[in-house]
Amino acid sequence: MRKKIIAGNWKMNKVLSEADQFVTAVSDKVPNSDKVEAIVCAPFPYLSALVEKTKGTSLKVSAQNMHFEENGAFTGEVSPVMLKDIGVSHVVLGHSERREYFAETDETVNKKTHTAFKHGLTPIVCVGETLEQREANETEGLVETQVKKALDGLSDEQITQTIIAYEPVWAIGTGKTASSEDANKVCAHIRNVIKEVASESVAEKVIIQYGGSVKPANVDELLAQSDIDGALVGGASLEADSFLQLVEAGA
Ligand code: 13P
Repeated sequence: MRKKIIAGNWKMNKVLSEADQFVTAVSDKVPNSDKVEAIVCAPFPYLSALVEKTKGTSLKVSAQNMHFEENGAFTGEVSPVMLKDIGVSHVVLGHSERREYFAETDETVNKKTHTAFKHGLTPIVCVGETLEQREANETEGLVETQVKKALDGLSDEQITQTIIAYEPVWAIGTGKTASSEDANKVCAHIRNVIKEVASESVAEKVIIQYGGSVKPANVDELLAQSDIDGALVGGASLEADSFLQLVEAGA
């Protein structure tokens, strides 16, 4: 049985005091369980404080992005070495907002998955189609290309540890969720792609999340699907109560 992973992606929200209050309210309530894992994906300035504050609890802390180089003349960037050094465990890579507004490509995502593993960070790799691509029936082909490129050159062991988040772009922040059956179909397709690039036993272990307008009211139905192993949540992860309800749904 794969565990469920609920990750709250705060995006560019909260000031430090709000981040601190959230973690105060949540961290001790996250169960220490092999059924569910909870992660907050916070803005860079708060990561260090949140890692300190969550020590001894089951709440994990993730970055929302990083550069693929370890250091150097890249003004404004944050490296995997820095994230590892402050105790961050996960990093979101290739979020559609980074692809759309910050020129993230499948190639840079692939470089980032490699450096993430080199430095002991677990990547949460985001893939997903736009509405235009869905309407043109390109969803499965596009997601397949994104997954294959992101995982290119990784060992089977690294692929096993990679978390994939299927986030249809048209469902992000819009209140529109893919139907749980449609979401499951794409997640199952992703699992088949992993079977092709690695093996059946790897594919059976990989955690595949759904993301896009997930909230307490629809999470049960999504998590009940055969190939959906958790959720990457934006809006509904900002409030402690709502985030905890999502985590409980996975337990
Ligand atoms: P919403 O849950 O706000 O739709 O955002 C989803 C998302 O992009 C998480 O990474």
